[in-house]
Amino acid sequence: MESYLKITQAPYLLFHLAEAFRNLKLTKKELEKAILKKVKRTVNFAYHNTSYYHNIMKKSRIRPSEIRCLNDMKKIPTLSRDELQKNYENIIAKNIKCVYSHKTSGTLNPPIKIQYDKNYLIHDTCLLLRQLTIIGYTPRMKFAEFKEYQLENSIIRRLLNYFGFFRKLELPANSTPKEIIQKLKEFRPHFFITSLSMILTLLGEIDESMPYLTLIIGGETSTRKMREKIRDVVGFKNVLEWYNCWECGHIAYECECGNLHLNSDYNFVELLDKNGEPLSEGERGEVVITCLSNFRMPLIRYKLGDLAIYEGKCECGSNLPSIRDVIIRKNNVLKLNKKRLIFPEKILELIADLPVKEWNKLQIIQERDSSIKIFGKDIDETFLLKLSNIINSQFKVVKKNKFKKKWIPVSSRMVSF
Ligand SMILES: [Zn+2]
Repeated sequence: MESYLKITQAPYLLFHLAEAFRNLKLTKKELEKAILKKVKRTVNFAYHNTSYYHNIMKKSRIRPSEIRCLNDMKKIPTLSRDELQKNYENIIAKNIKCVYSHKTSGTLNPPIKIQYDKNYLIHDTCLLLRQLTIIGYTPRMKFAEFKEYQLENSIIRRLLNYFGFFRKLELPANSTPKEIIQKLKEFRPHFFITSLSMILTLLGEIDESMPYLTLIIGGETSTRKMREKIRDVVGFKNVLEWYNCWECGHIAYECECGNLHLNSDYNFVELLDKNGEPLSEGERGEVVITCLSNFRMPLIRYKLGDLAIYEGKCECGSNLPSIRDVIIRKNNVLKLNKKRLIFPEKILELIADLPVKEWNKLQIIQERDSSIKIFGKDIDETFLLKLSNIINSQFKVVKKNKFKKKWIPVSSRMVSF
């Protein structure tokens, strides 16, 4: 894997690292001012360097200079995934060099190739270190993650590692579960950043508790009950949630109170109701993101397709706004007759009663508005019957509550684990 950080960029990394930590100490007003400055810079850049934003803002009769407060952002139209696909070439700023790209997984939507500039990778690393530090990481601790891109110049890295700083285990994406567990046991990291589905895959190979390891899972919908159960069953130190995506990187991290704090100084997040108005505390709405650090592919008011509940101020004292119960990709919500919705966490709460190792052997599929089918692979039929009865009694929807041995490939209208 190529190294992107030249030794000449090290001061830039240190400067932004200091800024990322300094922002945590700002008052709410100071933080808003810092976010507004970045928002203005991003909008101004996109207007002058990409034909898509230039045209769409002209059409909406808004000029960058008219963004005077964060609330003014609602004057700019939102950008959906479909619109991003359709206008892809016009959203890329051709004058900014792409140093890394990644295709989104495309589980629920067609994949999109996300392109990053060199500063984005540095900002993303700053956020990674900030989020780790908030949950107890110190530079002499070790962490493990799947290798995607590598920022550190090998000489700098070797020197730091020699003195015991920033020791990181990079797991190749094609590692087998057995290899991953073996490497984790040997390296004994304090933190392991991964996904829920990866952990469920690894569970079969874990044969001893890992009380030194805090697991950080993200990228998929999970509930606190599920995370606590994984922690207790395996014997991890803790299991926490991070909210992130390929388009914008680290969006939010779980604090000690169990809320997710938004990294608004890097990704400005608006939570909107179906009329496009800001949510009040306790309401659920759509996550709309303006990425403030990737100028190769500016994403302004981008609708990720995720839902979250706006929590507002958190008791931990952080001034970064907080959210909870994030639902990754709202396509995962079951839509019933008369526009009733079943949110996945309701079903996940029921599934959490199953032994952890069986979670990924279950599928719940909506085939029609009025019926949900439950599929289990090698799962006790009594449990499946119980689950379908509970879903039926709670939601009064499972008119044909069958369960089958048949395994269905992942489709878009399905709660999958
Ligand atoms: Zn908090």
